[in-house]
Amino acid sequence: MLNSQLHQRRGTAVPRGVVNAFPIYATKAEGSELWDAEGRRYIDFVSGISVVNTGHRHPQVIAAVTEQLDAFTHTAFQVVPYESYITLCERLNAIAPFEEPAKSVLFTTGAEAVENAIKIARSATNRHGLIAFAGGFHGRTALTTALTGKIAPFWKKFGLAPAGIYHLPFPAESSEVQVADSLNALDTLFKSAIDPQDVAAIILEPVQGESGTLPAPAELLVALRELCDRHGMLLIADEIQTGFARTGRMFGIEHSGVEPDIIAVAKSLAGGFPLSGVIGKAEIMDAVEPGGLGGTYGGSPIACRAALAVLDVIESENLLARADVIGERIRRALEAHAARNDGVAIASIRGPGAMVAFDIVRKPGTKEPDAAATKSVVKAALDDGLILLSCGAHGNIIRLLTPLTISDALLDEGLEKLGRALRVAADPTPASS
Ligand code: PMP
Repeated sequence: MLNSQLHQRRGTAVPRGVVNAFPIYATKAEGSELWDAEGRRYIDFVSGISVVNTGHRHPQVIAAVTEQLDAFTHTAFQVVPYESYITLCERLNAIAPFEEPAKSVLFTTGAEAVENAIKIARSATNRHGLIAFAGGFHGRTALTTALTGKIAPFWKKFGLAPAGIYHLPFPAESSEVQVADSLNALDTLFKSAIDPQDVAAIILEPVQGESGTLPAPAELLVALRELCDRHGMLLIADEIQTGFARTGRMFGIEHSGVEPDIIAVAKSLAGGFPLSGVIGKAEIMDAVEPGGLGGTYGGSPIACRAALAVLDVIESENLLARADVIGERIRRALEAHAARNDGVAIASIRGPGAMVAFDIVRKPGTKEPDAAATKSVVKAALDDGLILLSCGAHGNIIRLLTPLTISDALLDEGLEKLGRALRVAADPTPASS
C-alpha cells in the first residue's frame, strides 16, 4: 500500500489530536535505518524520540524478548511476580546516582512514571504542592500535562488543571532567563502563592527535551538541591529523555553532580518496548502504603527482559563513551556547515553527549527564529532519506537523537544528507531548472 493511501485511511480512522511528523509509514526498522511502505530507506536521526538508543531491534534485545515470548507473556507482577522484574530493579538501584540504598518500581509509559513519582513524593512528604518549569515536558496524562510548562497544544480546551502546580521560568540562552531569575521567581512564589512547607517536590528535566535540548545549568540544580534540603521538598529528575547513555552519562543529572531524591525513567530503558519506572531513595519509595502503586502491565515480563538486555548492551558496547564520540562528530559537521555559510543559517549548537540540537535563524549571527526554513530542512531531509525532528516554542530547532549504536559510516551518510538539506532549504530551486 502507498504511503498516501495509508495517510488517507489514517485521516479517516484516527483523530487529528494525534499528529504525525511525517506522511510516511514504517514497515521495517533495523539498527539505525528504517523503511517505509513503498520500500524507501531512511537513516533514523530520531530513534523514536530517544527510545532506541541501542538501535532498532538490537540482536541481544530481540533474543531476550524471544526467549521470554516462549516462556510467558503476562502474569501481572501484582498477582504472580517474576525474577526479571526484581533483577531489573536491582540493576536500576545499583546504577542510580544515589549515595544511599535505592528502590525501584516499574510501569509502562513515561507519563505513568512521572505520575507515580509525584504520588511517591506526596506520600513521603505529606504535602501536595508541585513546582515545575516553563517549557518542561512531562507527559500527556492530566497531571503530567499540568506539570508540562506549555499551554498550546498540550492544555488547549482540557478544562481546569489539577491544583497546586506552579511553574518557574527556565534559564536558557534562547529565552534570556538567568538562573537568578528562576530563583527569584521561586522566592516570589513562596511569598505569594504557596508556603514551601506545603511543597512536596520540584520536578525538572536535566536537559529540556521537547523544548529543544536546553540543558538545566548546574548552578540551578545545585541551588534547587539546597532549597529542597532547606524546606524538606524532594527533587525529582525527569530522565525519561535524558536517561540511559543519551547524554554520555547513564543519567543526565550526573553532569551536575547533584543527587536527586527520585528519578523517572522510560523511553530507551527497554530499547523499543513499553516500560518505565521510578527509582528513588529507599525510605522515600517505601512511603506509599501497600497497594498504592502498581498497574496491570507495569513491568511487563517482555519489557523487563528487553531492559536487562539494553543495560548489558550499554555496558558491553561502551555506549556512554560512544554517545560523546557521536555528539562530537555531529557538532563538528554542524560547525563546518555554519562556517561554510552556504545554506540556511544555524546557531547555538548545543547539548551534552548525543543529545544535540541547533537553531535555524534568519541570518547568521542573529537569533531570529526561522520556522519556515526549519520545515523546509526537515522536508528536504525526508526527501533525501533522513528522518529529522524539529521542535521548540518557535518551531526552529532541529534536534538530533541518533541511535548510540549507529556506525560511523551511517552517521556520516546521515550528516551528509543533513548538510544537503540545509543547503537545499536555503535554495529550493533545483540547479538544472
Ligand atoms: N517526560 C519527558 C522528559 C519526555 O520527553 C516524555 C516523552 N516525550 C515524557 C515525560 C512522557 O513519556 P510518555 O510519552 O512515554 O508518556
